[in-house]
Amino acid sequence: MVNQTFYNLGTAPSVIRQLFAYGLEQAKLVGPENVFDYSLGNPSIPAPKKVNASIHKIVDETDSIHLHGYSMAPGFEEPRQAIADDLSHRFGLPVKASELFLTCGAAPALISVIKALVVDGDSEIMVIAPFFPEYAPFIAANGGKMVMVPADTEAFQVHLDQVEQRITPHTQAIIVNSPNNPSGVVYTEETLRGLAALLERKSSQYGHPIYIIADEPYRELVYGGVKVPFIPNLYKNTIVCYSYSKSLSLPGERIGYVYVPSFAEDSAAVYATVSGAARAIGHVCPPTLMQKVVGLCAREQPDLQAYDENRTLLYNSLREMGYECAKPDGAFYLFVKAPGGDANAFSEKAKREHNLLVVPADGFGCPGYFRLSYCVSNDMIRRSLPAFRAMMKAYC
Ligand code: PLP
Repeated sequence: MVNQTFYNLGTAPSVIRQLFAYGLEQAKLVGPENVFDYSLGNPSIPAPKKVNASIHKIVDETDSIHLHGYSMAPGFEEPRQAIADDLSHRFGLPVKASELFLTCGAAPALISVIKALVVDGDSEIMVIAPFFPEYAPFIAANGGKMVMVPADTEAFQVHLDQVEQRITPHTQAIIVNSPNNPSGVVYTEETLRGLAALLERKSSQYGHPIYIIADEPYRELVYGGVKVPFIPNLYKNTIVCYSYSKSLSLPGERIGYVYVPSFAEDSAAVYATVSGAARAIGHVCPPTLMQKVVGLCAREQPDLQAYDENRTLLYNSLREMGYECAKPDGAFYLFVKAPGGDANAFSEKAKREHNLLVVPADGFGCPGYFRLSYCVSNDMIRRSLPAFRAMMKAYC
């Protein structure tokens, strides 16, 4: 006998993984240059030079027992202070090391916060479509109910009236992911201020805080001078889940944090519960080496030129062919309306006829669209354009 929920999770096919595996097989048959794989969100720019230099320095200069040892549960003081200083400097808030809890990336950060806020079987966590599909298991497996706000397919901002209709006395939090995976859209300050005002009103109506869980692995990936508002500046009951997976191109190293501002309601209890939830999932502490790297590199910013060139090339080319795309101001995704309306059919045809691998967005809560991860080589994008053109032609 095994747990059915986790069995189902472990055996459910992942569209993204299947496309990726298909691409690898096809590459053996037709050559990698003839496969156009836009499936995975794996960073394609190298980590900043200072990251590798810091790894060398730390390995050379740190006592081995200490380097490979455990840290205390929230992480070492030094990296937490470096992150706090960086956030304070950039966003004008007095962030303290004691408000930060280091994690193995955004996924365990989100799980710990969700676990902390699901208080009983009625607890609801809201997500805004299109959304990162892992929110569904993160919420369900921790006893919460996921409530989905349908996508604003005009601008891919947030339908505030739809949020309002779905808030109940059981709403504990809403996950806000901007820059967004999969749309690549950055929520404007106006959108976030509107959401903050709504949540303040509803929190006082129901007599308990409704938190924003700000899922921010793409915070630094933004183009053309667009600003990503720092949500704790707009709404005090915000808990930030951050990751260096994308901003420092370190997804395999598993490092990130939860930030619980002390001005958030019940912050001490929330922080303690996040810590307890992390303990319950066996999250002891992130790798010491990576904590130390972040301690030295917290101020590093990614060089986004390659992503920006990809974004411009893909967006302009697809628009010129007649595709409708969400305005890609951030992350490394382009979100495209499927010609013909059926994104699964489009994806299947593109795969079979052109080895063009695009992710249909049903799993992101937004059928009829597909996602392109443009963290690929610029050369692959150029070579893939005839396939996109042929696909558009087939549907005209
Ligand atoms: N949240 C979003 C929106 C993501 O896209 C991802 C990863 O792709 C994560 C969270 C998880 O990131 P991490 O690698 O830090 O666990």
